[in-house]
Amino acid sequence: MDCTALEKLLERDTDTPTILISSAGTVNSGDFDDMKVITALQKRFDFWWHVDGAFGAFAASVPGLSHLVDGWEAADSITVDGHKWLNVPYDNGFYFIKKAHSTLQMNCFQNANAPYLGERLENFSYSNFGPENSRRLRALPVWFALKTYGAEGFQKLFERNIAQAQKLGALIEASEDFELLAPVRLNIVAFALKNEALQSDFTKSLIATRRVFMTPTKIFGRTATRAALVNWQTRDEDIDISWAEMQRALREVTRL
Ligand SMILES: *Cc1c(COP(=O)(O)O)cnc(C)c1O
Repeated sequence: MDCTALEKLLERDTDTPTILISSAGTVNSGDFDDMKVITALQKRFDFWWHVDGAFGAFAASVPGLSHLVDGWEAADSITVDGHKWLNVPYDNGFYFIKKAHSTLQMNCFQNANAPYLGERLENFSYSNFGPENSRRLRALPVWFALKTYGAEGFQKLFERNIAQAQKLGALIEASEDFELLAPVRLNIVAFALKNEALQSDFTKSLIATRRVFMTPTKIFGRTATRAALVNWQTRDEDIDISWAEMQRALREVTRL
């Protein structure tokens, strides 16, 4: 996000209710907005500040990368996915909302006309503070995962995936055929063939053998390939396998 442009926008329009949605880890490139700059803007302007930290929120538990989310504690709301880097099954996510907004939250989500539920702020129940009333116990797999691996176990997983992403990024950067489209800040590697004409066929060929999986995407107007490393089973050797598969796919599309 261009925070200078944002500031100008906020200066121009002070009346319209505004929600600012910032990124802690964008889908395409794992990029982060500058939380400290937004915190400073928040002191001058009135807006609801949301942080999308679907997978990037976990940078907070990696020493050396936690600075990427410095300042986000001032946000009004933060969302995080469990079904990505926590490796628990779909559909699993959490949101954190500033305690100061409890009444607003309750007014949005409470079961209307249900006096039998008692005083809602006093008898806390998640069903009054979220969009769902009836729901499954999604917290259970998260609880088991955290109990089993702990903060340290997950930190190791995050660090391993980040190192794997960096290794793949370094191979791409040193290559004559591929081009890195964004710096590897976390666990996402966005890249493309230098020969743009072959790019779409390349991704198709890469995943056709089902040995590796990466997604086709578009970034900065370029058709690209995106590797997202979040899986606990990914071994360092899998990066070598991916690299070999990338070479195979490249040869295949060059021959076409
Ligand atoms: C996956 C993802 C989403 C979508 O969230 P789901 O809970 O999987 O629907 C939103 N934002 C980012 C940055 C994501 O990575």
